[in-house]
Amino acid sequence: MIREIQKDIYQIEVVLPNNPLKILNAYLIKGKDRNLLIDTGFAKKESYESLLRGLDKLNIDMKKTDVFLTHLHNDHISLVKYIIEDNCKVYMHPLDQKALRLLNDKAVWKSDEQFNEKMGFPKGRIGEALSSFRDLKEIEKQPKEFIYEDIFEDDIIKVGEYEFKCILTPGHTPGHCCLYEENNKILIGGDLILDKITPNISLNNKQWLANPLEAYIDSLNKVKKLQIDIILPSHRNCINGAKSRIEELKEHSYKRLEEVMRALQAKHISCPYDLAGCMNWNIRARSWEEFPLTQKFFALGETMANLVYLESKGLVERDIIQGKIYFSISTIGLSVLSNKA
Ligand SMILES: [Zn+2]
Ligand SMILES: [Zn+2]
Repeated sequence: MIREIQKDIYQIEVVLPNNPLKILNAYLIKGKDRNLLIDTGFAKKESYESLLRGLDKLNIDMKKTDVFLTHLHNDHISLVKYIIEDNCKVYMHPLDQKALRLLNDKAVWKSDEQFNEKMGFPKGRIGEALSSFRDLKEIEKQPKEFIYEDIFEDDIIKVGEYEFKCILTPGHTPGHCCLYEENNKILIGGDLILDKITPNISLNNKQWLANPLEAYIDSLNKVKKLQIDIILPSHRNCINGAKSRIEELKEHSYKRLEEVMRALQAKHISCPYDLAGCMNWNIRARSWEEFPLTQKFFALGETMANLVYLESKGLVERDIIQGKIYFSISTIGLSVLSNKA
């Protein structure tokens, strides 16, 4: 399905098969000489066909279209190599280009595996947890080789009458970027600000952001300063009240931090994986044991992101016991909790 958001700005619904997000919103900005496509979809037949159908309906010639990728996740980037033509520019922030290279590096992968096991994840099962993210290719067409085009904070991409400024908004990934159109007060928001759902802020990779939740909250505060009439997000509905949605997301983050503190207080000391099992998750499973392994991996990452944030504020403390990571509430943390009770 295609929606005209504003003159020359279109939303194309790209199907994400077997994924709870269901749809990626790609955006197409029509220009005089060149168009700009923002994000693409999975390298899967259904994604490919729905994106192509949208581009066809809008009469888009990919030879005259560049691509901007908000961040490195598969639902945003995997299709790009199947749709570009030789002279297409594919923009992505260098921090996400680097993170993507690390994800594909076997040595880095091994050290991340060990890191997750130190946090308590079942030994030798990371590969299984992430297997659904690999081998996504189900497209007959040969992919095109390309080199990412660097794009940095404050860089401008002009398309038709629009001038999109790149805003670096790390947290969800290290190099996540939004595009801001100041004259029309439009923010193309990627996965930074979503309606109804909250983006995943995880720490499963040691080489990524040291404190992703802090980075995410900083990014929300940065975007809150902009004049925005509409946010065009990568998933779900467009958002009209930017400031109030940002406040809701911050509020949610703080509530989550308190939940982690309370769960940790009840356990006295815990490894991140066991603590994740004590939190509330929006998943249809009767118990932590019944959680799908992939969801356990993300729950662990999110719990760890919360713990590292609390650690940076002096509210929790880390111990290494027999090579494993454990956390407990600090004296400051205990006094904060007793003041809140
Ligand atoms: Zn994402
Ligand atoms: Zn996404």
